[in-house]
Amino acid sequence: MAMRAARAYIGIGSNLEYPETQLRQAFRALAQLPASRCVACSPLYRSEAVGGPPGQPDYLNAAAAVDTTLSPEALLTALQTIETAQGRVRTVRWGPRTLDLDLLLYDQLVLDGSRLILPHPRLHQRAFVVYPLYDIAPDLEIPGQGLLSELLKKFPQPALVRLDSAE
Ligand code: ATP
Ligand code: CA
Ligand code: CA
Repeated sequence: MAMRAARAYIGIGSNLEYPETQLRQAFRALAQLPASRCVACSPLYRSEAVGGPPGQPDYLNAAAAVDTTLSPEALLTALQTIETAQGRVRTVRWGPRTLDLDLLLYDQLVLDGSRLILPHPRLHQRAFVVYPLYDIAPDLEIPGQGLLSELLKKFPQPALVRLDSAE
């Protein structure tokens, strides 16, 4: 019998080298992950950079849902391989990047490892994560944080612009 797939959610961000192209390429790469099936891609959102060095270009963010039989650690490794393939260079913390893929959730798994923390520890603080995630999974519950629909209410006027799919 086939192994039951886990449902993982991935947060995607870029603010360098044509972010929209980076995000579209990331969606394609996620669709090609081994032992996985990409089941949803959110719209794209634009926002100003917060944290990190001043004067960074705006970010584009999105979220994707993937059904996978990869372990959480193997999935994180695969995400980091995609980041590297798209030119991610790690310099300053929260500095500008071509592509950032965060593993937001892996089913309802709670993990506190040195390399992987689940749910992603800053998910619930970020409108640019919560909004696209809600678009693809409005009924989601975040372990330790409650319903995503409730979290969304913490950001009544988010400084986010949802891009039309035509843009
Ligand atoms: P933030 O985590 O605040 O979004 P960031 O995405 O810029 O910041 P990175 O430099 O991409 O941070 O990642 C730093 C480390 O975070 C990685 O080396 C990775 O091992 C670790 N990490 C822990 N939990 C996760 C997770 N759920 N998803 C992605 N990386 C994680
Ligand atoms: Ca991140
Ligand atoms: Ca990251």
